[in-house]
Amino acid sequence: MSRTVAFIGLGNMGGPMAVNLVKAGHRVRGYDLAVTPGPELEQAASAVDAVADADLVLTMLPAGRHVLGVYDDILPAARPGTLFVDCSTIDVADARTAHERAVAAGMRALDAPVSGGVVGAEAATLTFMAGGGETEFAEALPLLEAMGKKAVHCGEAGAGQAAKICNNMILGVSMIAVSEAFVLGESLGLSHQALFDVASTASGQCWALSVNCPVPGPVPGSPAGRDYRPGFAAALMAKDLGLAANAVRAGGVDAELGLRAAELYAAYAERVGATEDFSGIVRTIRDRSGDPT
Ligand code: NAD
Repeated sequence: MSRTVAFIGLGNMGGPMAVNLVKAGHRVRGYDLAVTPGPELEQAASAVDAVADADLVLTMLPAGRHVLGVYDDILPAARPGTLFVDCSTIDVADARTAHERAVAAGMRALDAPVSGGVVGAEAATLTFMAGGGETEFAEALPLLEAMGKKAVHCGEAGAGQAAKICNNMILGVSMIAVSEAFVLGESLGLSHQALFDVASTASGQCWALSVNCPVPGPVPGSPAGRDYRPGFAAALMAKDLGLAANAVRAGGVDAELGLRAAELYAAYAERVGATEDFSGIVRTIRDRSGDPT
């Protein structure tokens, strides 16, 4: 069924996601503060204008403050019962506040952050993790499937954001662990290939090692082989670990490694921003180790 969709936030992710909705036969009215939509989309004059006759409102914005600010502007302008789907990566607490404000305004809401990056947004191979009601998830599913290859309903409001930050906390910690192991191996005279051949088929196996290997050689195509061009930028990993650290502190969880990973990635991202893949952290570990190679 073709739907009328307002899409707010047409940056690196939102732009191609909106185009994939058009390709799937939906009418999309796009709005971004800074980006002019491509010819595939109808251009709205403002966020308020975009939502006026929408069945669903999708947002893909930088952070929670942007989502809450935009919601405050557009909730009064939408038709009662409109489904608001926020795909941005934001604090779990902000996601719950966004749900509450939407429901208080007579709307329905889902949080549905993604993994898969810009490549996944362009190829419509994103994974969505959603929080909210069953009915809302079922209604959004055809649109999520037009933009991705998989959508998991994780639970109630905020559960999608919770799944996203927990997954990325595993990823951040495991990338540091793999990187430290390679640098330790270097100091012990162990070749990268030998450590990879053992760990990738033994109990050290993980995505950070087997797919995004932080040293060049063992995995052709990993960012290490192209001087750490992203990939998944260090700045985005630092952002996601910051959100995880907020939730760790708010929940009083004893997640020492998650908090330490957030500190290490914050310091690393301050230097390299979005120019390096997050696996480039291996170089900072090597530098701090006095370069044993
Ligand atoms: P981006 O900076 O490229 O795009 C965000 C867009 O939002 C910008 O074009 C900006 O102009 C627009 N915007 C900001 N405030 C606005 C407002 N008030 N009204 C209208 N438009 C506004 O960022 P991105 O890479 O597309 O990421 C978007 C979200 O997706 C972030 O939460 C990010 O963490 C998440 N995410 C990104 C990736 C990735 O690889 N880039 C992967 C997974 C998740």
